[in-house]
Amino acid sequence: MLFGKSVNRYYFKYWYFFLMGAIALVVVDIAQMEIPNITGYIIDEITTKTLTYDYLVKNILNFAIIIVIMFFGRFFWRMNIFNCGHLIANDLRQRMFKKMEYLDQTYFNENKTGAQMALYTNDLMIVRQCFSQSIMMLVDAVFLGILAFAKMFMLNKVLALLAAAPLLLLAVLGILVSKYMRQKWEARQKAYSDLSDFAQENFSGFGVVKAFVKETKELIAFNRLNRNNQNKNLEHARLSVLVSICVSLLISSIIILIGGVGSYLVYLTNTTDVYYMSLGDLNRYISYFSSLVWPMMALSNLITISAQGKASLQRIDTVLKRDSLVKDAKDVIKGANLEGKIEFKNLTFTYPGVDEPTIKDMSFVIEKGEAVGIIGRTGSGKSTIVDLLVRLYNVEEGSVFIDDFDIMKLPIKDVRELISFVPQDNFLFSDTILNNIAFSKEKLSLEEARKHAKVAGVDGDVMEFPEQYETVMGERGVTLSGGQKQRISISRALAKDSKVLILDDSVSAVDTKTEATILNNLKQMHGEKTLIIIAHRVSTIQNLDKIILVDDGKVVSIGKHDELYENVPMYRDIVDLQKLEDQEHEVIPC
Ligand code: ATP
Ligand code: MG
Repeated sequence: MLFGKSVNRYYFKYWYFFLMGAIALVVVDIAQMEIPNITGYIIDEITTKTLTYDYLVKNILNFAIIIVIMFFGRFFWRMNIFNCGHLIANDLRQRMFKKMEYLDQTYFNENKTGAQMALYTNDLMIVRQCFSQSIMMLVDAVFLGILAFAKMFMLNKVLALLAAAPLLLLAVLGILVSKYMRQKWEARQKAYSDLSDFAQENFSGFGVVKAFVKETKELIAFNRLNRNNQNKNLEHARLSVLVSICVSLLISSIIILIGGVGSYLVYLTNTTDVYYMSLGDLNRYISYFSSLVWPMMALSNLITISAQGKASLQRIDTVLKRDSLVKDAKDVIKGANLEGKIEFKNLTFTYPGVDEPTIKDMSFVIEKGEAVGIIGRTGSGKSTIVDLLVRLYNVEEGSVFIDDFDIMKLPIKDVRELISFVPQDNFLFSDTILNNIAFSKEKLSLEEARKHAKVAGVDGDVMEFPEQYETVMGERGVTLSGGQKQRISISRALAKDSKVLILDDSVSAVDTKTEATILNNLKQMHGEKTLIIIAHRVSTIQNLDKIILVDDGKVVSIGKHDELYENVPMYRDIVDLQKLEDQEHEVIPC
């Protein structure tokens, strides 16, 4: 059984299933306990040669009734309790997913995908087992145990006390082993997470592995993790097997004891002796004890599963209990009609867990409807500016403003709805091109999708695919070229139709002619919209209203292309260097 803040609610929510299951289980146990009774009486009738035909038929009928009750009872409790396990696992899965959707970027920076997937598979499976099997085991073990023991005690007190000994030993064993077992399970789950992480990363980056001819290196690394996983599994299995063997040994030794002492009582005591047993009583007694074997085995399984369940629930709990670092302020400003003016005021920002600030005392203003370019060396903080604008991280109050409202006071949803964003990594879902473009919409017609794709300059490419907009892309859109992926990402952002459009290095993989067409289209359609284009190539941004040159997290200068070229040596160097590179490309034939 599992208890904890995140699961206690299920006992209340599904009490009906638990109760019905437990009642059916108890009915089965009571019916089952009648079997030794009937066989015992029949044996006694046989040994005293008083067995009649009617008595035999009556008892066979009783057997039949018991079997029917046990059949339906077992079916009913299993349906109830297993159903309950699935309902709980389903609910937990839903809550975990909802929480993960809500959590901030820091969580995903800290936790790898493979480890997250392990929570949804292995950990959830164990928790489900705890709520189905282990509850059933506990009810069965306790009820059947007490019932069998009471009947044994009424039959013969001495033998009953002999049978009680292993129960006590079992309880002690359970307490001693449980904590150790939990540690072993935790280690096993950790090894599994590492393994699935490694496999997941390798599948995503298999192209890199092949290009660098590092298959053998990866194979060796996988082998190491696989071996570690195997060892942790073996360590855990070893302990589980040891526990179940100890339980079996206890049971076997007590059966030998009962057999010996019981035979002595049947053959060597007189019918008048207090401890005398008939052959039927001994048979009944052994049958009762056999009924105790299952509860005892169940208790040993319970020790194993509960320890595993606690460890898995703890891992799941760390997700469920985690709060998002990025959330709406208490005094959030509702109903602000955001238009798209953006201002950074002396912003300094440090990524969580990093010592040095990435953005240093940065200030700039982007007016509503302006088309602005951001340029700077790699690692200068351009993408960070966007991450902060879409509130992936918190910033200090009073340092970023949208329409003169402090971004930290605005509802995160409003801010994100205001901004359409083409991320630098161009992530696409493994779905059709149409569905990818329509991602932000409930419904988007093919005509509308094509309209956006035309602006992004990718419609022609898509129409050449055999399935056109119904083309399903492989994981991360691997069947498309880099430039096609970029342009489909742009179409997706355009379809969102927000007042601010941000392109983070989104035309870097297209040729300069296509780039010019896309930029031209964007400039023509952006109208009232604020347009921010982050780029490495000057050609991408030189015709925009203004350019922000950043370096090492600081704004170096802001102005139009000509002004910057005239007055800012760093900008002039970038332009000249790129001109030189372009000339070289023209001279050197490919
Ligand atoms: P590029 O032109 O290569 O895209 P960029 O200007 O967009 O570079 P950023 O991605 O903003 O640069 O990164 C700026 C700095 O912040 C880099 O030094 C980078 O290592 C660091 N950085 C980026 N993301 C994180 C993060 N999640 N945690 C810690 N540091 C980060
Ligand atoms: Mg970047």
